[in-house]
Amino acid sequence: VPPARCSTEQETVAAQAIPPVVGARLTVPLVTGERVQYANLDHAASAPCLEAVRDAVDELLPWYASVHRGAGFASQVSTRVYEQSRDVLRRFVGAASTDTVVFTRNTTDALNLLAGAVPRGTSVVLFDTEHHAALLPWRGPRVHRIATPRSPGDALVALDTALAKCAVGPRLVVLSGASNVTGEVWPVAALAEVARRHGARIALDAAQLGPHREIDIRALDVDYVALSGHKLYAPFGTGALIGRADWLSAAEPYLAGGGATKQVVDWGDHLGISWSKVPERHEAGSPNVVGVHAFAVACETITRNGWAAIETHERALRERLRAGLASIDGLAELSLFDGDRDRLGVVSFALEGHDPGLVAAILSAEYGIGVRDGAFCAHIATRRLLGVAGADGQRALRVSVGLGTTDEHVDRLIAGLRAIVAGEK
Ligand code: PLP
Repeated sequence: VPPARCSTEQETVAAQAIPPVVGARLTVPLVTGERVQYANLDHAASAPCLEAVRDAVDELLPWYASVHRGAGFASQVSTRVYEQSRDVLRRFVGAASTDTVVFTRNTTDALNLLAGAVPRGTSVVLFDTEHHAALLPWRGPRVHRIATPRSPGDALVALDTALAKCAVGPRLVVLSGASNVTGEVWPVAALAEVARRHGARIALDAAQLGPHREIDIRALDVDYVALSGHKLYAPFGTGALIGRADWLSAAEPYLAGGGATKQVVDWGDHLGISWSKVPERHEAGSPNVVGVHAFAVACETITRNGWAAIETHERALRERLRAGLASIDGLAELSLFDGDRDRLGVVSFALEGHDPGLVAAILSAEYGIGVRDGAFCAHIATRRLLGVAGADGQRALRVSVGLGTTDEHVDRLIAGLRAIVAGEK
């Protein structure tokens, strides 16, 4: 198994194209019986696997064995691959060697792990339009939800005010890098600067931002980054929490079990347990070595390829998509903030007079296009942006592009939506 490598400047300059994904020529059946190339316009939910990832998984499959537990050659290979992957993830976000990288199942798992590790009495401050993975894990009287303002400038003021009201004690600001509903990129570094003035730590939910923009934990000045492998062009089952080790070192293990323990002794009336240090402390059970390798190879392939080509590809698609959508009657794009600002290739919208579920079903059955309809696990955001109260009518359509998207996919979507609006479908 080749060791995981990080990009060099030369390699970055040499690579111009974007990394290919598997299934690019996949065809799907339409209601007519005809088959068309599948247009996956749901990258914000899960991204297709990179070819490089598939090849790396294929190479590891004969070798995987128990990590940190076996003396055999395959166990040695697996342990090495697993620990190298940790290093790749650390470098992917520019974390320091003193930061820890805990492998989790996904971003939800990573943020729940952090929620269980914050010291007692920590005030947690967050905006209310976050994805449920960032909004829900925090409990208790010291959780302060800020109503998301209509401008990033007002968000800075609102955060400042909320932090000023926090009780004495540790503080944590939980923040998305980008909205999974609107694709708008949050002013993370500016918000972190406000948080620092109040002595707060910052946890960045990078589930959406991580696959599309380079993340530098130090330049952004955040303490924790949470990522999901399946949004980053690797298969399901792996995520990571990367960041400061102290709270995680002091916390009870996330799960109790083998791997998280150094020693267990029977003292008759109780067990004497000494827990491992981080990161193993929070990784009880046999780890997903193949998944972690896939995740690391995806991060490494993207880094080696260089972000510039990826951003250029996605910007062009985003502009094509937004221009096409803007030309459709009765289509209202959702935005958290007033005015146009930096966005990923994620667009949600309502289509006047049309049920989002039905539109999504027609796009699938008649055009071979996969989009998402619903509230995107961000019910407060979606409901507010749609201008609906209560629990009903909180559904929109979401289209999201990525490395697997082509101009033709976008054009087909726009043609399909035009036909639906014209009553032809
Ligand atoms: N945060 C954001 C912004 C997301 O978009 C998502 C998934 O859509 C998550 C967190 C949760 O990711 P996962 O389901 O991989 O845990």
